[in-house]
Amino acid sequence: MINLSQQYQQFGISEAVYKYGEEILASLQERFRRIDEVAEYNQLKVIRAMQECNVSEACLLGTTGYGYNDLGRDTLEKVYASLFHTEDALVRPQITCGTHALALALMSNLRPGDELLSPVGKPYDTLEEVIGIRPSKGSLKEYGISYSQVDLLADGSFDYDGIRAAIHDRTKLVTIQRSKGYQTRPTLSVERIGELIRFVKEIKPDVICMVDNCYGEFVETAEPTDVGADMVVGSLIKNPGGGLAPIGGYIAGKKECVENAAYRLTSPGLGKEVGASLGILSSFYEGLFLAPTVTAGALKGAIFAANIYEKIGFDVVPDGKQSRHDIIQAVTFGSPEGVIAFCQGIQAAASVDSFVTPEPWDMPGYDSQVIMAAGAFVSGSSIELSADGPIAPPYAVYFQGGLTFPHAKLGILKTLQNLIDKHIVTEDFHRAKA
Ligand SMILES: *Cc1c(COP(=O)(O)O)cnc(C)c1O
Repeated sequence: MINLSQQYQQFGISEAVYKYGEEILASLQERFRRIDEVAEYNQLKVIRAMQECNVSEACLLGTTGYGYNDLGRDTLEKVYASLFHTEDALVRPQITCGTHALALALMSNLRPGDELLSPVGKPYDTLEEVIGIRPSKGSLKEYGISYSQVDLLADGSFDYDGIRAAIHDRTKLVTIQRSKGYQTRPTLSVERIGELIRFVKEIKPDVICMVDNCYGEFVETAEPTDVGADMVVGSLIKNPGGGLAPIGGYIAGKKECVENAAYRLTSPGLGKEVGASLGILSSFYEGLFLAPTVTAGALKGAIFAANIYEKIGFDVVPDGKQSRHDIIQAVTFGSPEGVIAFCQGIQAAASVDSFVTPEPWDMPGYDSQVIMAAGAFVSGSSIELSADGPIAPPYAVYFQGGLTFPHAKLGILKTLQNLIDKHIVTEDFHRAKA
C-alpha cells in the first residue's frame, strides 16, 4: 500500500483532514468520470482541429521582425477557428491578457454613437474601466460609445422584458460573460447563452453577440460559437493555454469581427499580416493540446472544494451538486480572516513561491483591496492553482485552476488545515461560531 497520508503530513496536513478529503472524494467518483469523458471528447476535438489544419513541425518555429508569412501563427489561428467553428480567429502573444482581448474586441467593433449592452448584469471588474462605468482614460465612453446593462433577475434568470426594452437602433454589440467573475451569480451554461443569443437576435438580427469566454473553454463539449455567438474572447493564461502559454489572448468569430480586431491590434492596412510570433508558438500549440485535460483537473479541484466547504457549512457557488460551466469555485467565508486563511493555504501548496505569505493589496483595476494566492510557473496564470478574493462583503474567495488534480487536492486540503489551525473551522469539520 502506498502511504499517501504520510506524504500529506509532510505538508502539515493531519491524518484527520486527509481522511475527511478521502470521504468526500469517494462520493465524487461518478462526477469525475463524466468530467473525464468531456475531456476525452475535447481532446479528440483539439487533435482533429490540428490534423485538419496540417499542423507541422515548421509551425512550432517562430518569426521575428514584422512577422510576414508566419506559418505557425497563421496555422494556429486556423486551428482556433476550426475548434470554435468560426470563420476566423486572432491568437496572439501581442494580446497581453484577457482584459486586453476583450477591450480589443469591443473597441474595434464599436464606433462612436453605438451602444454596448450587457444583458447579464455587471461585467468583470476590469471591464468597468474599459467601458467607462468607472471613468478611465481611453474608455469606450470617452469615444462616445454608450453602455447599458440589464441585471439578471433575483433567481438568476434573464430579464427578457428588460432586455427587450434595452435594445434599440444604436445597440450594436451585446456582451455576455459566461463565467461569474467576482460575483456569486451562477455561471451561464452554453445552452443558456444560446437561448439568450436567440432572443436577442430575434429582436435585432444584426447585433453582434460577443461572449467573454474566460474560464469556460473546454468545460463543456460545445462552445458559445456553437450556439450563435459571433465572437468568443479569452485569455491564454487561462484554460486554452493549458498552463504552458506564457502570455496571450484570442478572439474567434465572424470574419469581419476578427478583421476589425486585427486592424485595431496592429494597424489599419496591416491587420493580421504582421505580428511576429518570436519563439512562443510551440507553447501555444502544446498548451492547447493539454488544455482539455488540464481544464478537467481544475474542474475536479473546484468540485472537491465545493463539497468540502459545503459540508462544513459555508455557502459555495456553484454548490456541491450543481453542474459546472466554468472552473471557478466561490466559497463565502463571511470574514476577511477566512478569505486570508484560505489564500494562504493555497500559496503554501505551491511549487513556486510556497514560502511567501500573500496579503491584501490595492490591485490596479479593482475597486477594493484584493488578496491573491498564486505560486505559478507563469506569473498571474489562473489556470494554475490560484485563489483570490476582494476584501469586501460577503468575503468570498474565488478558487480556480490546478494544472493537475493532485496539486488542486493538496491545495484544498492545505486550506482546510489552515482554517482549522486558525479556528475558523472546528476540529470536527464544522463552521466555528463567530
Ligand atoms: C480573467 C477574466 C477577465 C480578464 O482577464 P485578465 O487576463 O485578468 O485581464 C475577464 N473576464 C472574465 C470572466 C475573467 O475571468
